[in-house]
Amino acid sequence: MRTGGLWALCLAGGVVLSGCTGPEDGRAVPEPSFTDAASAQQGTTPPPDSRTQSTAEVPDPTPEPPAPPEPSRASQASSDPESIHVLVNRQNPLEPMDFAPRDLTELQVRTTVEGPLYLRAEPAQALEQMFSDAADEAVVLAVTSAYRSFSGQARVYSARHQQLGTEATDEFAARPGYSEHQTGLAVDVIGIENPVCIRGDCFDQTPEFAWVAANAHEYGFLIRYPQGAEAITGFGYEPWHLRYVGPETAAEVVAEDLTLEEYWDLPAAPDYDEPEPDSVHLLY
Ligand SMILES: [Zn+2]
Repeated sequence: MRTGGLWALCLAGGVVLSGCTGPEDGRAVPEPSFTDAASAQQGTTPPPDSRTQSTAEVPDPTPEPPAPPEPSRASQASSDPESIHVLVNRQNPLEPMDFAPRDLTELQVRTTVEGPLYLRAEPAQALEQMFSDAADEAVVLAVTSAYRSFSGQARVYSARHQQLGTEATDEFAARPGYSEHQTGLAVDVIGIENPVCIRGDCFDQTPEFAWVAANAHEYGFLIRYPQGAEAITGFGYEPWHLRYVGPETAAEVVAEDLTLEEYWDLPAAPDYDEPEPDSVHLLY
């Protein structure tokens, strides 16, 4: 199902998402009062004296309804791949599946790979500032992976799948169209002084990780796949994988110690709907 869970929720009407058609904050449009509606329907206007008298002496029969509560979140999930609040997980692939951002920007930071790496413009700028500020505190960070295209993800996924099959490959890599890296909002970071931890859980034992965990949200980044949340996010613990959502949302998510699924009040996404990847995901 390519539309994923977001649209189902839109239709259910229980949750109003920014990607849905309708008021962004979910507030109902106030109904006109009975008096106004009756006047409009009849096309008549009460005589000035009676209207004045009425409003002066008769209590308003339709008191103002209580103001709707202010939105309690800095953001809501979006199904728009251009939004920095797009939710991508095993239940919510990118739509279109081969989406590519239009504002990819080459990262001007240290990396562990040859050749350029890219993020969208806003997270790229935020990441560069974060790395610069970390360096001022003698914390040296580097990027191991950033934007990955649909076709690039398909190559990675297919090569692994051909060797190991679906189950083992799904543990290792997102299916193409289901990777946050394809949004241009996700980046993998390491401590460059601890290269042994490039892809291992030991990154979270490093001072570089401690700095990232304490500060990344101020730059708009989250540790997207925290420990013990695999049943919600669909991914095991990835201390290196940061997702940009903007500083306001990141601050709230960190303060409440939530996953993005929980913060946006959306269902957990432990599994794909399809047991096997679609043929468009496999290049062999
Ligand atoms: Zn990653």
